[in-house]
Amino acid sequence: MDRELLEQTLADLGQPAYRARQVWERACAGAGSYEEMTSLPKSLRSELDQRVPFSTLELERQLEAGDGTVKALFRTHDGHPVESVLMRYRDGRRSVCISTQSGCPLKCVFCASGQMGFRRNLSAWEIVEQALFFLRVVNSTESSSSGPETVTAKPEPVAGLSNAALMGMGEPLMNLEAVLTAVRALPGLGIGPRRTAISTAGWVPGIDRLAGEELPVKLALSLHAPDDELRGKLMPVTARFPIAEVLAACKRFYAVRRRKVLVEYLMLSGVNDHREQARALARLLNPKVFKLNLIPYNETGAFRGSSRLAIDSFRETLSKAGLEATVRVARGREIEAACGQLAGEPGTTGHT
Ligand code: SAH
Repeated sequence: MDRELLEQTLADLGQPAYRARQVWERACAGAGSYEEMTSLPKSLRSELDQRVPFSTLELERQLEAGDGTVKALFRTHDGHPVESVLMRYRDGRRSVCISTQSGCPLKCVFCASGQMGFRRNLSAWEIVEQALFFLRVVNSTESSSSGPETVTAKPEPVAGLSNAALMGMGEPLMNLEAVLTAVRALPGLGIGPRRTAISTAGWVPGIDRLAGEELPVKLALSLHAPDDELRGKLMPVTARFPIAEVLAACKRFYAVRRRKVLVEYLMLSGVNDHREQARALARLLNPKVFKLNLIPYNETGAFRGSSRLAIDSFRETLSKAGLEATVRVARGREIEAACGQLAGEPGTTGHT
């Protein structure tokens, strides 16, 4: 739901000023349509239905993996694919991985989203709608309430979402205005900025702008190689922003925001998982500023992922060189919902 359009429309209809907030709060509480917002006059509900699309993203497919991960494939009103993922953890966290662009302009060679090319930036509300969708999924599958018909004095407490990662399709820092508006709207859904992570391929002006915002978000950097030569082959954006510049921007971010930057490092067999590369990585990253997360590669065709053994020995070398690292647990692989598998067309990565 486009909040600006909502506010404008309600003003045009001569509605009182509190209406927009009321409608938005109902949507954030998990209402699936205007019709369900029974606290609004019926005529207003149908008026809104005509003028302000409840959601402009159309759900095309929804897949659920055995580990509870849900992947949703949407189309924008103008036909572009958008993918998002819900991850549920035993400790109760409900984390959404959402897209900020349809496709991606940066063309990292290992990533399915990069390979599909760039369609367009998503609007702030298209970004928020992905999270709203999963909020309803969580509420409808995990709430003890039997639905909106239940006669209770108060609405059921919202089971809710807890974390967001802007790590789906796209480069968030190349669509920063919309991303900032979306991040500022997410607390309405229970996701505060401290539990929102923005992941970048190293778009330096975006990192600097983000550092200057009064917004305590987490910053993640996709590094994937310890030297410019290799990184340039994997991530063409390196030609524009070399590693030294990117890390310097991350240090400025840390200096201002006092939050460590999470470095993501994909483990590609025989490409970036050698012992010397672990040592080089340890020299690059000061543990006072950076945390390192090693990411098992979800194969999308071009590369082979490092074995568990190779990942463990890489981690061991890092540790000896003074840098501790964590290893990311892959989720939702069998439904191609895992990192780098978001390509907008189910089945195109050759998995069954
Ligand atoms: N453009 C941003 C956000 C999108 S990618 C960025 O580059 O950070 C989010 C994460 O998924 C990145 O760390 C990316 O490197 C990782 N990723 C991409 N392809 C992957 C794959 N096939 N397997 C595992 N992780 C992948």
